[in-house]
Amino acid sequence: MAKLIDPEPSNQPAATDPSPASALIQESEWLLQTVVENLSDGVVITDLQDQVLYVNSRLAKLVGCSAAEMVGKPAHDFFHEIEGWRDFQDAAEPQPFYGWKEGQLRRKDGRKFWAEVNVTQLEDAAGSATATLITVKDITERKWLEEYLRLLESVVVNANEIVMISQTEEAVADPLSLRIIYVNDAFSRTTGYSSGEAIGKSALVLLGEKTSMAEVNRIRTALRSYQPVRAEVVLYRKNGTHFWVDVNMVPIRNEQGQVTHFVSVMREVTERKIVEEQLRRNAFHDSLTGLPNRLLFMERLTQTVERAHEDESYQFALLFLDLDRFKVINDSLGHMLGDQLLVAIARRLEGCLKQEDMVARLGGDEFTILLENIQQDSDAEKIAERVQQALSAPFNLSGHEVFTSASIGITLSSTEFDRPEDLLRGADIAMYRAKAQGKACHEVFDTDMHTHVVALMQLENDLRKAVERQEFELYYQPIIELANGRITGFEALVRWQHPEQGTISPAKFVPIAEETGLVIPLGQWVLREACRQLKQWQDQFASEPPLSVSVNLSSRQFSQPYLIDQVRKILAETGVDARCLKLEITESAIMENTKFAMDMLLQLKAMGIQLSVDDFGTGYSSLGYLYRFPMDVLKIDQSFISRVDVDGEKLELVRTIITLAWNLGMDVVAEGVETMKQLTQLKALKCEYAQGFLFSEPVPQRDAEKLIVQSQPFLHLSQTLPTSSRLAEDA
Ligand code: C2E
Ligand code: MG
Ligand code: MG
Repeated sequence: MAKLIDPEPSNQPAATDPSPASALIQESEWLLQTVVENLSDGVVITDLQDQVLYVNSRLAKLVGCSAAEMVGKPAHDFFHEIEGWRDFQDAAEPQPFYGWKEGQLRRKDGRKFWAEVNVTQLEDAAGSATATLITVKDITERKWLEEYLRLLESVVVNANEIVMISQTEEAVADPLSLRIIYVNDAFSRTTGYSSGEAIGKSALVLLGEKTSMAEVNRIRTALRSYQPVRAEVVLYRKNGTHFWVDVNMVPIRNEQGQVTHFVSVMREVTERKIVEEQLRRNAFHDSLTGLPNRLLFMERLTQTVERAHEDESYQFALLFLDLDRFKVINDSLGHMLGDQLLVAIARRLEGCLKQEDMVARLGGDEFTILLENIQQDSDAEKIAERVQQALSAPFNLSGHEVFTSASIGITLSSTEFDRPEDLLRGADIAMYRAKAQGKACHEVFDTDMHTHVVALMQLENDLRKAVERQEFELYYQPIIELANGRITGFEALVRWQHPEQGTISPAKFVPIAEETGLVIPLGQWVLREACRQLKQWQDQFASEPPLSVSVNLSSRQFSQPYLIDQVRKILAETGVDARCLKLEITESAIMENTKFAMDMLLQLKAMGIQLSVDDFGTGYSSLGYLYRFPMDVLKIDQSFISRVDVDGEKLELVRTIITLAWNLGMDVVAEGVETMKQLTQLKALKCEYAQGFLFSEPVPQRDAEKLIVQSQPFLHLSQTLPTSSRLAEDA
């Protein structure tokens, strides 16, 4: 039991009692006092009335008062701010007690510090309370640390990032199998494992089928050598679904430098991964059928070609497949069913092939198949037959039974091509040959076709240069008003003066220009030249109404968005009145671009330009569009006119077409009038305008001028008018 310590300690033991026992006591008192003075804790002793009897120097220092200032004062003065202090005092009577509290103590200068206060009742030998011992420990630093840790913890607990801490033991073979000792809320939210369920388990519970083992092993290797590691992996939730995380795993070392824990901080990146995957899929796959697209197909074809280069015995084949009559199905059943059909076809094509082969959708109704590692050329034809067989069974599309077939072109690795584009082009050409053979069949690309393609490629090359070298010239064919034989205007028809081959017909080169895009600069040149010429003629040969010029627009030209601006610019440049310009567009150009054809036509119309339907009767023969689109002139194709004098049925058709055009407020031009008899019939039908060899072939500018000068060069033709009774006999 502690004895009361002299409240006024001195540095030397008192030496008044000379007896050995008393010397011993004195000695130990002195020792005790020295110990107490040097304690790191503050010490206060009070009597049972709470009067301070003694304070050690540590305490005096803590509270900033001298011992003399404190002794004789109630301890309550110093400790009352400690929460629950009164409990000690109340408990002090009547029973002895001890206990501790934490709280803040105020220094003399008003500043506070955190303290842990221990209170013990001292008793004498009989067990009666004699005094109270209060020790005071400065815990400010610990408190601060606790606060700091609490803050840190709340950051971790509430973080959006997933935090998982696992504990390392001895060197383990698999650091991912270490026991988890902590997970935060985000971990539980994301994985579905509560912290209770996760703690004690290992990170291995999060791995699954789709987790890349290569990536997992990379993490393991890094952790085994205590390196931090960052990775993107697929993890699995408790409910079996998976998610992507970007994980950062860091080894944590203790003061001795030993790794004791691994902290994993993960951010869920599933959404980003899905988008990335979609982007990748989009770039290489067709969104409708999910098949590889042209890009992926060509990449694969390039690899295959390279492989065949290295290994001469390696054979492959390329199939180009185009559905027969797909447009009809699409137009009659609608795009939804058309799409369904394409998807169903994609699945059947996949069903015909081996794992190593590739089927792709190039676009529209065109598919390509790459047959890898075939044994002989005939294998490709066998597979083409198998594909045709597979497509011959009817498709059931939302209750509609639909039949289809495909034309297939084949190029074999044995052909002379070695560029992937040429192989594809070869198969495309062979496919067209198959279509011409009567569809639903296949053709193998051969040397004949090869020669043809080479010639075509040559022409394409020449065409490219022709635009720069200005080898084009415009010819003009007059359009005649039948009532008076007057020239109302001209159709501008382009001619190519090939340096070696002479004049080449537009029927031959316009389709190539179309395919290569060269038709855009060419068409622009034609339009500018025709307008320039017209303006010159109008200035030179005034007439009422003024002469007009008709310019042909191809499908590709018509679908380019800049067309309107170009036309506007050329009209402004040449000073031609828009009402004197007629643009000729075929039915198919309109139908291929129905989506924005209307918009384009309305804009042209709004400028005052007149719009003609060229070659009417050769395209879709769907009359619906005539009602919908704002066309001014209908040009009946020469295939009707050429037989109008010998074929009664054709004559009736032409009559119907003319009536239809009138009902729609359109003018009619008969194209390709070659004989008097044809002209007679047309006049009887009251067809207003005509053009054709009977009047004049398309002629160069100078010859056209000669015709204009004559004012009514075709009066003699228009005057040989039949009476309506003669017409009836003819009909
Ligand atoms: P198209 O617009 O229908 O032009 C009429 C075609 O019929 C011209 O052929 C013309 O020479 C020919 N033709 C005129 N009268 C008769 C006749 O009485 N009998 C016969 N058998 N044929 C006649 P061309 O000049 O060879 O042009 C063929 C096609 O090429 C044109 O058909 C047009 O679609 C296209 N084309 C011509 N020039 C251009 C152009 O500058 N741009 C575009 N995009 N296409 C053009
Ligand atoms: Mg034309
Ligand atoms: Mg025509």
